[in-house]
Amino acid sequence: MSNLALSNFAYLIAAVLFILALRGLSSPTSARSGNLFGMIGMAIAIAATFWIGESLNLLLILVPLLLGGSIGIYAAKTVQMTKMPELVALMHSFVGLAAVLIGLAAVFNIFETHSIVQRFELFIGAFIGAITFTASVVAFGKLSGKFGAKPLIFQGQHLINLVLAIAMVFCGVIYFQSESIPAFIMMVTLALVLGITLIVPIGGADMPVVVSMLNSYSGWAAAGIGFTLNNSVLIIAGACVGSSGAILSYIMCKAMNRSIISVMLGGFGADTTADIAGQAERPVKSGSADDVAYLMSNADSVIIVPGYGLAVARAQHALQELTTKLIEKGVSVKYAIHPVAGRMPGHMNVLLAEADVPYEQVAEMEDINGEFSQTDVVLVIGANDVVNPAAKTPGSAIYGMPILEAQKAKMIIVNKRSMAPGYAGLDNELFYSDKTTMLFGDAKKVVEELVKAI
Ligand code: NDP
Repeated sequence: MSNLALSNFAYLIAAVLFILALRGLSSPTSARSGNLFGMIGMAIAIAATFWIGESLNLLLILVPLLLGGSIGIYAAKTVQMTKMPELVALMHSFVGLAAVLIGLAAVFNIFETHSIVQRFELFIGAFIGAITFTASVVAFGKLSGKFGAKPLIFQGQHLINLVLAIAMVFCGVIYFQSESIPAFIMMVTLALVLGITLIVPIGGADMPVVVSMLNSYSGWAAAGIGFTLNNSVLIIAGACVGSSGAILSYIMCKAMNRSIISVMLGGFGADTTADIAGQAERPVKSGSADDVAYLMSNADSVIIVPGYGLAVARAQHALQELTTKLIEKGVSVKYAIHPVAGRMPGHMNVLLAEADVPYEQVAEMEDINGEFSQTDVVLVIGANDVVNPAAKTPGSAIYGMPILEAQKAKMIIVNKRSMAPGYAGLDNELFYSDKTTMLFGDAKKVVEELVKAI
């Protein structure tokens, strides 16, 4: 078998492993094996690429590979679970930047002329890459709080985006027809600006969908690089990321009642200030861990709603201990997971899996919403927006987003540290309900007190 045939065979195996990885990642039970398939596939793909490379400058490849790999390992080991979304956004930006740089390198290579098909690939790959790059940097800034999570809205925003998009495509077409380098650079510059103007109007509450959409864009940008480099495995891996990201975005849009077209065009976001928190001090009922422990251990059924605060406090292990104690006392306990609880898709599922919570105790929103009205006690722990009834009020920033209907339970306990708002910055009527008792304090400390008291 020739070198090329051998490496193509290795690429085929890698591609199959990537598909198995995606399949594995679709369920928490098989996620670990999915990850393993992906890692083996990537190792095979890298080895095969070395194998076919001719007159490679190993120093130029191995030094950045080791450097990038070490930074990656360090980041993966040290990043806090709550900071994952911004890390993911930053990584998407690198994929976008890589697509732009490879596109520029190919265009500046004056010793090579590009066929019509190659020019088309360069045109598409570079502008998607450029939009992904700046949009992901802005998403990173918003998620990490560096740019503020509030939407930046100004008049004529959509018109500006439209003009930028038309000008960008126009320059791309000129490059496509004449191979004009200035037109290519102009197209990339306009795409970089468009990446920023598309994301700035999007509010914090809608960021999860944007992160997932950027994930999809970064996949298509990688596929574009694959065409430029004539590398089939990169095309396949990019297409897998691109399409799975698009499917995830669609699922999240449905979960948040948003339009996917609006997300793609950057045309949605919170444009209202209704219900903004902190308008007036209102009385709430608060209780102690002992009171709550008594209520919970005497209940027939308890639903736990975890949110971002659970991740911040790293209270999942203590929570699992609490659940075990309640079950031993004959209480039926379930966890209710909202699709955007926490700061990234699947955040709560990962946390609960880490604490070995059995999967049968964990229910998705649409499966459990009907059960709240027959439930004795709901414990909302470090969650806020995902149980905020403001989602049913027209004009609210989260209007239309389905919520976990905790307000329908017979009794509601809310654990958080203060009356501060959640990510969307909204006041939450649930906290002021007659049926609600606030249990203030850090989630981990509070749950440990509950475990002791039961
Ligand atoms: P929220 O951000 O709405 O609320 C979290 C609550 O946790 C806060 O009100 C905070 O109140 C409390 N909290 C923080 N630290 C602690 C702690 N140590 N102990 C106890 N409580 C704590 O979280 P939700 O999970 O309800 O909703 C997620 C939000 O994030 C949604 O708006 C979603 O759109 C957005 N988002 C989701 C992403 C995703 O993909 N899942 C990505 C990006 C954003 P206090 O400070 O008073 O303690």
